[in-house]
Amino acid sequence: MKNPYRYSFDNKRYQTMNYYLKSKYNCKIAKVPLNAHFTCPNRDGTKSIGGCTFCSSKGSGDSVLGFNENVMEQYEIGLSRMKRKWPDCKGFAYFQSYSNTYAPFSVLKDLYDPFFEKEDVFGICIATRADCIDDEFLEYLDKKSVLKETWIELGLQSIHEDTMDLCNRCHNTKIVYDIIQKIKKTHIKCCVHIMNSLPYESKEKMIETAEWVAHSNCDAIKIHMLHLIQGTQMANDYLKNPFPLLSKEEYIDIVVSQLEILPESMIIERLTGDGIASDLIAPDWTIKKTIVLNDIDKEMVKRNTWQGKYYKKNL
Ligand code: SF4
Repeated sequence: MKNPYRYSFDNKRYQTMNYYLKSKYNCKIAKVPLNAHFTCPNRDGTKSIGGCTFCSSKGSGDSVLGFNENVMEQYEIGLSRMKRKWPDCKGFAYFQSYSNTYAPFSVLKDLYDPFFEKEDVFGICIATRADCIDDEFLEYLDKKSVLKETWIELGLQSIHEDTMDLCNRCHNTKIVYDIIQKIKKTHIKCCVHIMNSLPYESKEKMIETAEWVAHSNCDAIKIHMLHLIQGTQMANDYLKNPFPLLSKEEYIDIVVSQLEILPESMIIERLTGDGIASDLIAPDWTIKKTIVLNDIDKEMVKRNTWQGKYYKKNL
């Protein structure tokens, strides 16, 4: 049990991405979300046609704005918007929508090379599926990662195969584990997404997923509440046959318990989702992100707790 207040300038009891980047580089770094017009093997018929049942037609990139521009234009527009808010910030190219490694190597190289070469790109983050990363691309990215801070983000959501079968993830948890171990042999950093309130999951199951991530060797985690987005299979199922969704209080209780069992060194990239309010079917409380984040802080104070308080190195 270590001193919880070492994340001082961030005024949080967990290590945010902002804290990690600012401590390492002493500047504000802003992520610019991008849509590189990929698809996903879970959508194009290779594995399935419907996609994960919670995923919107925008491929989990609902907040990406520059849908029609080419990807470098999207970056430039996005960065100039960020600079209006933080004039001195540096940009992180965040390939968010769909599976951003789902193409032949030559296509990926042509896409990513200019970003590694561009001076005003500080870092690169590539979101993808664990079953869409091959050794050739990993080797390429490892070499490039000496030039810029380089991350891969993987969608896990839950370690429980019964839940993920229900969600039509179409790859198993072992594949995610194995690719994390491969990434960890390179210089690339790795972040894993998990989602609370998936259909019929108990609090215990959600905690088990966080425990798995705590011991997976990855560098960062994003914790999301399930958003039921208009038009998704899961939202349609919910409208026909509603299943229990976590209340704000239940979500906060679970998130704080998850933070307690994660190692202190792990970066907490996100504790809320980023959906578009007009597309949201439920739950309404997720729209007020700042309130959720503030309430997580308050709950940690009330419980006199912090990230890593109950982390067990050896299970
Ligand atoms: S793997 Fe990602 S992009 Fe593909 S359907 Fe699932 S959440 Fe959407």
